[in-house]
Amino acid sequence: TVITRFAPSPTGFLHIGGARTALFNWLYANHTGGKMLLRIEDTDRQRSTPEATAAIIEGLQWLGLTWEGEPISQFERAGRHREVAEELVRLGKAYYCYASPEELDQMREEARAAGKPPRYDGRWRDRDPSEAPEGVKPVIRIKAPLDGDTLVRDQVQGDIRFPNKDLDDFIILRSDGTPTYMHAVVVDDHDMGVTHVIRGDDHLTNAARQSVIYEAMGWDVPIWAHVPLIHGADGAKLSKRHGALGVDAYRAMGYLPSALLNYLVRLGWSHGDDEVMSIEQMIEWFEVTDINKGAARFDFQKLEALNGVHMRQMDDRELTKIFLDTLPYLEGGNAFLAKLDDTRREQLVAAMPGLKERAKTLVELLDSSQFLFADRPLVLDEKAAALLNDEAREILSELVADFEALTEWTAKSTDAVVRAYAEKSGRKLGKVAQPLRAALCGRTTSPGIFDVLAVLGRDESLGRIRDQL
Ligand code: GLU
Repeated sequence: TVITRFAPSPTGFLHIGGARTALFNWLYANHTGGKMLLRIEDTDRQRSTPEATAAIIEGLQWLGLTWEGEPISQFERAGRHREVAEELVRLGKAYYCYASPEELDQMREEARAAGKPPRYDGRWRDRDPSEAPEGVKPVIRIKAPLDGDTLVRDQVQGDIRFPNKDLDDFIILRSDGTPTYMHAVVVDDHDMGVTHVIRGDDHLTNAARQSVIYEAMGWDVPIWAHVPLIHGADGAKLSKRHGALGVDAYRAMGYLPSALLNYLVRLGWSHGDDEVMSIEQMIEWFEVTDINKGAARFDFQKLEALNGVHMRQMDDRELTKIFLDTLPYLEGGNAFLAKLDDTRREQLVAAMPGLKERAKTLVELLDSSQFLFADRPLVLDEKAAALLNDEAREILSELVADFEALTEWTAKSTDAVVRAYAEKSGRKLGKVAQPLRAALCGRTTSPGIFDVLAVLGRDESLGRIRDQL
C-alpha cells in the first residue's frame, strides 16, 4: 500500500505552500487507499516550538487533512538515527572523521580561491581510526560514491542525474551524537514505510544525497515527487504580500476549507478544464504524475471567486454551520455569535439562499447578515438615512397599512403587496423597495427585499418600518 507523509518543520505556522504539500500527500494516499503519516521535524531545537507544532496541527485539522496514528517527533528518534549511522560505519559505508575546525576552514578557503563550491576532501575516508587525534570527538560521514551519477527518478521532474563528484562525504551524525537533517529524514522515512515522498522542489538536491544513504543501507529508495514552489502573481517568490500567510489567516479572511483546498490543488495540478471540484472529486482524480513542472502563481482574486462558487453550491444548513463555526475567527464574529439563539439560527438558515448569492467570503456573509439581528431601532448608515425623506416615509406608512391586511407573510405575498402598491401609487418598484430596504436593513444593499421581509417575519418587519415613521 501507498504510504505518504507530511513532514513540516515546526518553526512557524502552516503556510500556504506547506498546506498544498500536505494536500497532495493526503490526496494521493486517499486516491490509492493508502495512508498519510505526519512527522514533525523538530530536530532543530533552537527553531522548533511547541506553539508552531500546535498551529500546524490546527491548520491541518481545519482543512480536514487527516493523518494516520499519532504525529511522529523526529527529535525523539535521535537514538535510532545514531544507531543507523553507527551501523553504516560497521558496514564500511561511513566513517569517523576527526578533521578539526581549522582544517575544515582551510578546505573552504582553498575551494573559494579555486572558485569551487566548498567540499570536504575525504581525508579521513580511508584513514585508520587508530590515527585519531586524542580528545577530538569525531563526526560520522557517509562514503559517497566518487564517480558515476546518482539518478533521482522523480515523478514530477523526470529523471535527474547528479554527478557523484559533486556530492561530498557529507556528515550524517554530528560530534555531539545528533543526526543531521539529511540522515534523520532517510531513517524516518524508511522506518515509517514511506513509499512516496511528495514535497517541495527545494528538496530535490537533498534527494540525491538521501539516495546515497538509502543505497548504503541497502534500503529501497522511495518514489520521489518534487513539487514546484508557489510564486506570487508577479512571478516572484511568494511573500506575505502575495499570500504566503498561515492557513489561519485564510480562515480569518472567511475562506471555506473546501474552497481553499480546491484552490490549492489547482496550484500546480490540473484535471482537464475542471476548475471547481469537490473534495471527493479531487481524491478521485488526483495523480502525482499530473503535477505540473512549472511554478504555480498565487492569485487572490481566483481564490475569492472560487470561494464564492463553493458557498453558493453548498447546502444552506451546512454553510450556516461552517459560518457559525468560523465566527470566532472573524472580526466582530463573537458579537454576532452572542446574539444567536435557536430561532435566530433558523432565521439565518432561511436567509442563506439570499445571503450567499451576494457573498464571496464568510466575512462578507457576516457583514450582510448583520441586519438580521440588529437591535431596534436600527442605526441607519449614511446612505440609508439620506434615503428616508418625507416622500419615503409617506410610502412606508402607506405600505404598513397594506402589509397589515396580509394574512400570510411570505416572500411571495409581500412581493405582491409591494407591486400592487407601486402600481396604484404610480411609482417604480425601486422607488418603493429602496426605502423599505433602508428601514429593514439600515443600509442600501441587502439580499432580495422580499426574502428579507420573509426572514425577519411580520412583527419584526413592521416594527422596523414603524421605527422610521
Ligand atoms: N521538514 C522539511 C520542510 O519543512 C520537509 C522535509 C521533507 O519533506 O523531506 O521543508
